[in-house]
Amino acid sequence: MKAARIVAPNEPLQLTDIEIPKPGDLQAVVKVKSAGVCHSDLHLWEGGYDLGDGVFLKVTDRGVKYPITPGHEIVGKVTEIGKSVSNVAVGDDVLVYPWIGCGLCPACRVGNDNLCDTPRSVGLFQDGGYAEYVLVPNVKFLLKVDGIDLDGAASLACSGLTAFTAIKKANTNSQQYLVIIGAGGLGLMGVQIARALTNSNIICVDLDDNKLETAKKMGADYIVNSKNPKAIEEIMSICKNKGADCVIDFVNAPPTAKMGLSILRKRGKLILVGLFGGSINLSLPTIPLKAITIEGAYTGNYNDLVELLGLVKRGIINPMVSKKYSLDEANTALEDLKQRKIIGRAVINP
Ligand code: NAD
Ligand code: ZN
Repeated sequence: MKAARIVAPNEPLQLTDIEIPKPGDLQAVVKVKSAGVCHSDLHLWEGGYDLGDGVFLKVTDRGVKYPITPGHEIVGKVTEIGKSVSNVAVGDDVLVYPWIGCGLCPACRVGNDNLCDTPRSVGLFQDGGYAEYVLVPNVKFLLKVDGIDLDGAASLACSGLTAFTAIKKANTNSQQYLVIIGAGGLGLMGVQIARALTNSNIICVDLDDNKLETAKKMGADYIVNSKNPKAIEEIMSICKNKGADCVIDFVNAPPTAKMGLSILRKRGKLILVGLFGGSINLSLPTIPLKAITIEGAYTGNYNDLVELLGLVKRGIINPMVSKKYSLDEANTALEDLKQRKIIGRAVINP
């Protein structure tokens, strides 16, 4: 089968011929129909994360082994199952929950595999969906999808699920103003989910007017371009000069995290999701004086994906796919995302 693989950081992905995987007892092989192109694939391609102050966290130090096939947002058709599998059958269309853990650590034991101490995520620590077929290491992580757009469904595994989890973390007190920073794949899902599930006034911030216009169509009440030197004043004025109850930062780089802290009201919450990287100085007394909370959010658990898929099946959430690429175009897809040419999510159709 063909797979587009990262062989070394920052080198073009190689389209290689590798063996179609064979399923073990409780495993399945899925013929990939659609694989979402996530900004995290770019971090994997670049070799890691900028921790700030000149420190770089290499993905290989987190357990990634090159060559690796990226792609953690996967929808496809089951083509082969192990002998003990009963929950899915050959021919089923499925969405893969990719945030698989060890199954044994305290997080996995309460169903939070996404926060496992030794993650085995598909498309990160094991081969993912930029390929004709993918091995699903345990069929309990498969969700059947029918009656919905399969390309859109792929994006639920990461951009949808991560945004859903972040919005749930944000929606703890009846908040008036919710700021969403970054109107990319995650942020636009965030706007849509916040519109459907909360009563907040949604303020979306980005550098790109086209993306902001899309955010408005998806339900943002206000849009603010952070290139505007008066962006912070503009947001404060929208929030009646009290500040926002919650800021979700889907970029999480020094300018956005600083903005997030400066527009947060007393008792407010800053949720950091993006992995753009860097570091900031933190004024320590401000945190207790304003009684603010800073929280990280990493993807989401299986149950949340089941719930989110339910919202999509009922037409409450409609994942948006703006561009489709073939497997041969995997490098172009990643390059286009890097150059900020993609609105919402793009997918690869192997
Ligand atoms: P994307 O490339 O689709 O979108 C990023 C958006 O941020 C773009 O619209 C861009 O214009 C905007 N942006 C960039 N710099 C900005 C700035 N300084 N101010 C305002 N807007 C800015 O990316 P994505 O797929 O939505 O992913 C976003 C980030 O979240 C990535 O770092 C990704 O790795 C990370 N991520 C985190 C999780 C998690 O669980 N925590 C999950 C998936 C992705
Ligand atoms: Zn992702």
